[in-house]
Amino acid sequence: MKQKEITLNTPHKENGHVSPEDIGNDHIGTGFETPMKADAFAISEEEKMKKIEFHVQEIMETLGLDLNDDSLQGTPNRVAKMYVEEIFSGLNPANKPKITLFENRYQYNQMLVEKDITLYSHCEHHFVPIFGKAHVAYISNGQVIGLSKLNRIVQYFAKRPQVQERLTVQIAKELQSVLKTEDVAVLIDAKHLCVSSRGVNDSNAATVTSFYGGKFQDENTKQEFLKYVELGTEY
Ligand SMILES: [Zn+2]
Repeated sequence: MKQKEITLNTPHKENGHVSPEDIGNDHIGTGFETPMKADAFAISEEEKMKKIEFHVQEIMETLGLDLNDDSLQGTPNRVAKMYVEEIFSGLNPANKPKITLFENRYQYNQMLVEKDITLYSHCEHHFVPIFGKAHVAYISNGQVIGLSKLNRIVQYFAKRPQVQERLTVQIAKELQSVLKTEDVAVLIDAKHLCVSSRGVNDSNAATVTSFYGGKFQDENTKQEFLKYVELGTEY
């Protein structure tokens, strides 16, 4: 039943759907939008937490854990709250950061790079952490954004079950939309615990994904961005 739901919500279902078996361990993203059910917000956050708490308890009991133990007793509730209010809160559009733009009064028309943004997300295939750094840049189209909003946009999309490729594109498209310019770059350098702590158990592997829009497709502009990202931050 669960598998059927996943398949039905895959955006590419018309041109031959991708089944969970096809995805396997290979981390193939199936679309740019996060696949959501039509009734995703039919129940309240509180009801979601109650349901999740119940099911986490079922999982723990199935694993043979004794939920009468003091240490385990509160886990189903803690996991439910963490899913809904923290690590998957970016599924709810109500939590999308409100962006105010300011007039670019300084006539600063070079690129602005916000680098080393701390990134915590979760792999949608295993629900284990993805962590690393995001670097984003844009060239102003006459308006500028508060710097912390760049971090907030990254964090909003990170707080979803993700594949790194989709996360990269979602951040880039949102920046293009709010900044009203194609001239946006996003680079994500991250480790996936599903690769480093299980499966192939490769703790050194990191995954790099990038998006270059507009002027950033120009080789010199792209190289300038990459040079800034490489600069040390010991200051
Ligand atoms: Zn994974």
